[in-house]
Amino acid sequence: MDFSHVELSYQDQKFLDETRAFIDKHVTDEVLARQLEFGENFDEQVHLALGEAGYLASDWKAETDGGFSPVRRRIFALEIARAHTPWYHWGTTSVVARLVQQFGAPELAGKVVPGVLSGEIRLCLGYTEPEGGSDVATCKTRAVRDGDAWVINGSKMFTSNAQNARYVFLLTNTDPQGPKHKNLTMFLVPLDSPGIEIQGIRTLDGDRTNIVYYSDVRVDDLHRIGEVNGGWTVMRAALDSEHGMVDPEDHGLQYIAAMAGHGDVMAEVVDTVAALVAKVDDRSVKYRLGRAVARMEAALSTPGMFGRVAIAQTMRDIAPDLMDILGAASALPTDAPSAASDGAAEHLYRLSLPLGIYGGTLEVFRNMIAQHALGLGRPHYG
Ligand SMILES: Cc1cc2nc3c(=O)[nH]c(=O)nc-3n(C[C@H](O)[C@H](O)[C@H](O)COP(=O)(O)OP(=O)(O)OC[C@H]3O[C@@H](n4cnc5c(N)ncnc54)[C@H](O)[C@@H]3O)c2cc1C
Repeated sequence: MDFSHVELSYQDQKFLDETRAFIDKHVTDEVLARQLEFGENFDEQVHLALGEAGYLASDWKAETDGGFSPVRRRIFALEIARAHTPWYHWGTTSVVARLVQQFGAPELAGKVVPGVLSGEIRLCLGYTEPEGGSDVATCKTRAVRDGDAWVINGSKMFTSNAQNARYVFLLTNTDPQGPKHKNLTMFLVPLDSPGIEIQGIRTLDGDRTNIVYYSDVRVDDLHRIGEVNGGWTVMRAALDSEHGMVDPEDHGLQYIAAMAGHGDVMAEVVDTVAALVAKVDDRSVKYRLGRAVARMEAALSTPGMFGRVAIAQTMRDIAPDLMDILGAASALPTDAPSAASDGAAEHLYRLSLPLGIYGGTLEVFRNMIAQHALGLGRPHYG
């Protein structure tokens, strides 16, 4: 691993200054207060401003197509994180837009991609069902062909950001009698279609997600992404990206693991707590803080699937230590009078639980590491 300092050129320093000023202007105290209250991880005005200023397009495109250079991509990611910008769902939108371009009809991609880059169109993921999400291929939501259209019935659990999205990237079963993994078809379903009902759910860490019901929803065949019963090929590409199973690039500037942005959140909380207890002369405090810092640094330096597990597990392990170091007031949430560290350690604790679930649970990731990275064969549950 290369830990050398990146010297910014004059132009890149200017880009950093402009980006920081732009984010400071748009990610206001009101935006952050709304995020705290509603937990949407999305703010339309901020998103549209990022689109209008060209940041979304530059982030989405490869450098050879006019996108950010690796240095600017890194600067942009760090500045977005530094400001706590509520925009986690950009990740979902940009991945799905790529899949639409790769596997969808050119006519559909031509309609969707420009809107994604301007910020007006957002895309969400409809994989998980109420009866289970880890084995997504057991999907029961049905799509039945009817002339040039499809009729969809079923329900999806945890469709995050559906309330702010134009389309859902929906996994359906198009052949219930067919062999597993060969009976699935993907669609990009307009969320304003008749028959769709979105119900909000708040999670433990205060975020909003949704359960979405589909009752006789008609969608044109143009909205099919990939082959009929060939949905697993599309899903595999989507899941590889979500799981961080993409090849690292030579420059070493990109995030090295999926969910590494959450690692930045953890690092910020550790720094905050360290600053607060810096002068406390207590060996136990020093020991626990030192252990938390060492664990955090190791997690942030761990790549790929290993890093995804390390970040979430470390967050789960060190958050209670950080709260203990701060004392009883650390149990008070952000904005409560007398909350220690303004509730940051308490929030980290609550965040660490869903973080080990969404995008695949830690247990499932550990199995994937054992099976695919370490070659230990399929797990036996007997
Ligand atoms: C806040 C939040 C946001 C989410 N957003 C989205 C979204 O936008 N779109 C979407 O489609 N999904 C989303 N999800 C769903 C998420 O991907 C699933 O929750 C996750 O994949 C686990 O599925 P499940 O909750 O159905 O648990 P289950 O699959 O029912 O698992 C239950 C328990 O069994 C364990 N388990 C299951 N299978 C195995 C196995 N093979 N080996 C060992 N242990 C196993 C799990 O680790 C877990 O502890 C979100 C979830 C959360 C919490």
